[in-house]
Amino acid sequence: ESKQLGKNTFSYYSKELHEEALRKTSILTGLKDAIEQESFDLHFQPKVNLSNGKVESAEALLRWSRDNPSGFMPDEFIPILESTELIHEIGKWVIDEACRVCKKWHDAGFDQLCISVNVSSVQFMRNSFKTHVFNALKKYDLAPEFLEIELTEHVLIQHNATITAQLKSLKDLGIQLSIDDFVTGYSNLSYLINFKVDTIKLDKSFILELNTSKNHFAVVKAVIQMAHILNLNVVAEGVETTAVRNILVNLKCDFAQGYLWSKAVPEKQFIDSLESFNKVLTVS
Ligand code: C2E
Ligand code: MG
Ligand code: MG
Ligand code: MG
Repeated sequence: ESKQLGKNTFSYYSKELHEEALRKTSILTGLKDAIEQESFDLHFQPKVNLSNGKVESAEALLRWSRDNPSGFMPDEFIPILESTELIHEIGKWVIDEACRVCKKWHDAGFDQLCISVNVSSVQFMRNSFKTHVFNALKKYDLAPEFLEIELTEHVLIQHNATITAQLKSLKDLGIQLSIDDFVTGYSNLSYLINFKVDTIKLDKSFILELNTSKNHFAVVKAVIQMAHILNLNVVAEGVETTAVRNILVNLKCDFAQGYLWSKAVPEKQFIDSLESFNKVLTVS
């Protein structure tokens, strides 16, 4: 009987795998068309300074906004792009578009706003990445300190000469470096000392549980203390409630992002809503 069960289990999984492969191939075809037809947009989510309630920055998040009938989100399509050359093409566009929008905001008088861009490890491992950054900053005449790149720990734990050299030249240029999804990856923290990291970004899986789980609270508290000893800023992502926001203020977390203020929105809506984001912040 157990043999029977094993057999069923096997065919069940291979069917699943087959469907998964088909699904991936069909998304990939859609993605190729989408790149050709420029069906992507960047949306922007405010990052709030918790000490004064002001929006000081925006995270650019990729959206496949046209001809995407299944409504695929980045968590689903970015890994597929990463398995092909397309990630480099789209990644280059993301950097360019983020710099363009940031410069536009500056020209409109919001001249202190910074912009963060997510960069996947395959993208960062390529030598030409820094050239894309240099070119975009130059093209829009944007000062490097207004641009932040968000990398995950996966990038920094690899002892790879390209990565080290690339990080050094980007830091020498003056861009900001943030570690995304912090604490979901590795526990070897030596890269915090070996590289010029500016900011740690606490993963939302910790923040969402902050007011319901003692253990999550303890980890968040410890990370904030450690970061401050190392002179790093801490951003909490996934702040959805005032209860969580208040805990973060008490823990002296530096910045926050989350649906409490806004989801990621198009560039015009972002600028038009700046005042209202600030209002949410000042209500305790
Ligand atoms: P991430 O960089 O960690 O971004 C945070 C994700 O959490 C975003 O999902 C954001 O919309 C979502 N989020 C923000 N506030 C809240 C909240 O209060 N509650 C909850 N539950 N979620 C919140 P999104 O936009 O779907 O992006 C998912 C991931 O895809 C990103 O995670 C990032 O790793 C990747 N990604 C997005 N855009 C790009 C891009 O342009 N390039 C690359 N390489 N990766 C990107
Ligand atoms: Mg991010
Ligand atoms: Mg994150
Ligand atoms: Mg994430």
